[in-house]
Amino acid sequence: MHKYGAIAGGGLAWIDLNLFNGKLPFTLRDSTPDHAQLKPASACSNIEYPKPDGKLSFDKLSSVFLSNTNHEEDQICHLVLTDSDLPIRDNLPEYDEPAQRYCPAGVYEVITNDDGSKHFQINAQNCVHCKTCDIKDPAQNITWIAPEGGGGPCYPNM
Ligand code: SF4
Repeated sequence: MHKYGAIAGGGLAWIDLNLFNGKLPFTLRDSTPDHAQLKPASACSNIEYPKPDGKLSFDKLSSVFLSNTNHEEDQICHLVLTDSDLPIRDNLPEYDEPAQRYCPAGVYEVITNDDGSKHFQINAQNCVHCKTCDIKDPAQNITWIAPEGGGGPCYPNM
């Protein structure tokens, strides 16, 4: 659907799933990686989301709490930046640092310091291991590595 659009792509997906039971004899590959699809912030307008109502919609940190996510605090950060300056130097002016928004757990924050400068903060303790950041960072600057000792989300009722 990403490659051929909603109508042609949706039709092909329907044929694959319903007529071939998901076993289409060839693969329709999308050759453009997801991280290369990001538009610059200047080409987009801000989306004003309504505040979570606590009934049908919830804030990120309440949902992280429900996932029972936990990591030992005295471990090396399992979200590794190849270039630690890149998020503020390149991603912030070009893409308004998208990690602030695509991470479902609010792990990445751009903090304004007292002197007006900014720094990129990683709250690795909250990571729910979706690996979106590893895939979506436009510079491919973030590498997700397995944390210590089985840390991460724990859904007791699943
Ligand atoms: S793996 Fe998912 S939850 Fe963890 S930091 Fe990356 S985007 Fe956020």
